[in-house]
Amino acid sequence: MKTIGLIGGMSWESSIEYYRIINETVREQLGGLHSAKSIMYSVEFAEIEALQHQDRWEDAAQIMIGAAQSLERGGADVVIICTNTMHKLYDIVQQSIRIPMLHIADATAEAIQAKGINKIGLLGTRFTMEEDFYKGRLTDKYGLEVITPSAAEMEIVHSVIYHELCAGIIKSDSKQKHADIITRLVADGAQGVILGCTEIGLLVSQADSPVPLFDTTEIHARAAVEYALEP
Ligand code: GLU
Repeated sequence: MKTIGLIGGMSWESSIEYYRIINETVREQLGGLHSAKSIMYSVEFAEIEALQHQDRWEDAAQIMIGAAQSLERGGADVVIICTNTMHKLYDIVQQSIRIPMLHIADATAEAIQAKGINKIGLLGTRFTMEEDFYKGRLTDKYGLEVITPSAAEMEIVHSVIYHELCAGIIKSDSKQKHADIITRLVADGAQGVILGCTEIGLLVSQADSPVPLFDTTEIHARAAVEYALEP
């Protein structure tokens, strides 16, 4: 079994989920007392969040590179970044280490294609929903058509992520707002919706949606186990 290196803490509310899902998946597949070999480098999220919102991505990249190199030195065979947003820095972090990094959007796109879906809604931070580093990969590499919420809806999703979910706050009215946004994306033709922020799965579940939801935390964690268990 390979050792999975996790860059976590963004936020730790979702890193716990990664840790749980990775270990549950190994137990599902190997049974008994089997568990995953893993190392987590958990960052200080307040520092990262400040750099993101101050547009200081080069400084954020230095933190991510330091984390990835620590995991490599510590014996990880593969690295995953446990947040969608920080995949904005995927290329530069991957270039700083010799071991592979599994991209969260690749695992997600493969799950979407396996369901025969080509028009997909995307929820996440404003960085993920608006910029090209994520949507562009889904479109260019996988031919998916990606639709995003309106500006006002994006504001709601972004704000709930940073002010509630990453702070461990789950509110039923925010859950309802997300369900309404999902319904609107479906009315616009979405055949499925990506929970493209690793905390959104803490708020909404499949029961809140008429179309398949793709929870990136679950998909990414399972992809890491699949890689770790490959002969
Ligand atoms: N965990 C979130 C994501 O998947 C947001 C936190 C962050 O900015 O990294 O994008």
